[in-house]
Amino acid sequence: IGPAPAAPAAGAAADDAPASGAAAPRPWAPWVPRRVLVTPSALGWAHGAAVVERAAALGAEIVRLKADRLTGLPDSYRDAKTTMAVVVASPSRRRPQPIPPSADWRFDLAEGCPAHCQYCYLAGSLAGPPIIRTYANLPEILAELPPLIGQGSVTSRDPARAAEGTTFEASCYTDPLGIEHLTGALAEAIRFFGRTEAFGGAPAQLRFTTKFDAVAPLLTLPHGRRTRIRFSVNARAAERFEGGAPRMPARLAALRAVALAGYRVGLTVAPIMPLPDWRAEYDALLRDAAAALQGVPDPDLTVELITHRFTPGSREVLQGWYPGTKLEMDEAQRVRKTTKFGSTKWVYPKPVMVQMREALEDGVARHLPGARILYWT
Ligand code: SF4
Repeated sequence: IGPAPAAPAAGAAADDAPASGAAAPRPWAPWVPRRVLVTPSALGWAHGAAVVERAAALGAEIVRLKADRLTGLPDSYRDAKTTMAVVVASPSRRRPQPIPPSADWRFDLAEGCPAHCQYCYLAGSLAGPPIIRTYANLPEILAELPPLIGQGSVTSRDPARAAEGTTFEASCYTDPLGIEHLTGALAEAIRFFGRTEAFGGAPAQLRFTTKFDAVAPLLTLPHGRRTRIRFSVNARAAERFEGGAPRMPARLAALRAVALAGYRVGLTVAPIMPLPDWRAEYDALLRDAAAALQGVPDPDLTVELITHRFTPGSREVLQGWYPGTKLEMDEAQRVRKTTKFGSTKWVYPKPVMVQMREALEDGVARHLPGARILYWT
């Protein structure tokens, strides 16, 4: 648990919310919730109490609930995005799940995110108002992980990734760095993975991806190179869809900082979209990433390439959150794909996919020849 950063006003960064268009290009400030709801059980955990203390010190209103059920959740998007709840993760919520192709297992330190991306993938996966839930029982969450060593379906099948050991993804339902100044959970997880004895000496890796850049508190942690920090990056033209998140140069500067601190690093290029001038834009992105890593001894760089897609459900939620969005979510411009669970998602037509894949893979090969592409999807 580290010291709190210099205090911005409660509700800061949330005001970056683009109701109908481009994000304001002003410096990003750490997000501070206006209201923090905390359950009695959550306050019983030292980690939960510390989160509440930090939020209060930054000016958030603390609401101590009388029971462990979350009540008084806001209806509006704006109010929900400035609300954080500190709760205890139930046994079912803290049970890790397989999460191919990113990692062997997913586990959650929190759910929800303070940014306002108009394509946010959480819209299709989290139900209810988009508040942030952060979990107080971190020791119980981390204790679920060591028994899964050697049981993954991703790294064991991919010889190029086998050396990483069993991999655990912490950013499926949140951007953990975006709330780290409040939670300290990421630092705790990084230290946990850094202790090889926690996993009986077996290889294991913590992974997370982020659009945020506040990496300073992570640089001196004893990570043991058992954490891979990936930065979610995109063409500059996509930044207009990413309210409340630091701009691309800040993310690339953070990439360099953590790579120099010895972390394994990665780029999550997502969501890839055929925006105007997309070839030149993605080429410039990969060139800038190469410049950011220049002179870094051994970044062990990986690249994940993820194209934009939407489901009928995620489109409805996103259009409710961002009614004026210019993000293309037009079925007429897409092809239907059925997921392995039988649901529908809309992806780009094959010729577009082929062109984008060739261009991106070629760009990685030219600008980042030492990088490993983990997957294209
Ligand atoms: Fe969603 Fe990621 Fe953007 Fe947060 S940073 S709003 S999780 S897409």
